[in-house]
Amino acid sequence: MRAVWDWHMPRQNAEDERRLVEFARAIGFDTLILSSPTPLVMESAHRLGMRVCAIVTPNVTAEYARNYPDAVQQMLPAEDAIAETLSGLDWEDYTAHAHRWFYPVQLSHLLCFESPQAQDELRARVNAALAVADGVAFDGFGFRNHYACYCPRCQTFREEMAVQQAGRSSDHLLAEMSEASLVNLSHRLYAHAKGGKADALVTNHVWPPFRPNPDYACRLRLDYCSQTISWFYRPHWSLERVRFEAQQMKRLENPARNRFVPFIGLFDQPHLLRTPSRIAGEMTIGLEYGAGGLVFCSLYTLWRYPEIRQVVQDALTADTIARIEKGEV
Ligand SMILES: [Zn+2]
Repeated sequence: MRAVWDWHMPRQNAEDERRLVEFARAIGFDTLILSSPTPLVMESAHRLGMRVCAIVTPNVTAEYARNYPDAVQQMLPAEDAIAETLSGLDWEDYTAHAHRWFYPVQLSHLLCFESPQAQDELRARVNAALAVADGVAFDGFGFRNHYACYCPRCQTFREEMAVQQAGRSSDHLLAEMSEASLVNLSHRLYAHAKGGKADALVTNHVWPPFRPNPDYACRLRLDYCSQTISWFYRPHWSLERVRFEAQQMKRLENPARNRFVPFIGLFDQPHLLRTPSRIAGEMTIGLEYGAGGLVFCSLYTLWRYPEIRQVVQDALTADTIARIEKGEV
């Protein structure tokens, strides 16, 4: 899979949508990942031999969280206070200066993955996506505090685990239950997607990070698991770290669960850009460890900066030719 995510391309009319698809195809991508694809996007993509995945998230509005408190994640009171405080912070300056790359807690409300109502809601979102698209791309499936949900249902579940597994520490039980929650949900949603549409493409972007086990994503049930090897925000990771991340994820890959695909994040704001030669280096690493597969985000950056688009296109083309010559394609 050579996929590109789009968040920011103009999609005001039919011409915009056709142009978006043709642009992605011309660069060398075979899969387009975006929110709410229209029948016209689907038709344009299929004509060019591309697949389209619709983005599915567990995000809910504050109103939903108020109306259905049993279905949403809860944090500790102190973590709610952190979220409240952080909502006034200059996000990008903070991440760059603190070398955190992400907030200590996620500000938006998220469904609790153990709630039956939330699971119904997620299945309905998958159904809505697959009614139009070839596949789904899960994004945002994690915990607001990056390690656990403290709703009464999850708390009770852990209390029962503690009784059954007397002697194990509470931090082990917390981490184990949270990881199982993420992994089990991926199995449920994968089965649901394939049950409704056998040839559905099921992929994701691993986000937000899971602190108890940053490498948990090799356990998720997906066709392709896209994991970040180069992040959007500053300070940018060194190329050595980019290679390290790709190596680590490839080493942990379990093809019975999913195929690892390296994810390169690059937004279009000038202060977030990396140079074309730097992007060329990341592409080489990504295509090597992704065995020719790669995920790039976002398409608008390539639209806005032709010199970056060119190195991405050149890397995809050169890799294809090399693989044909080696008899791998
Ligand atoms: Zn919960």
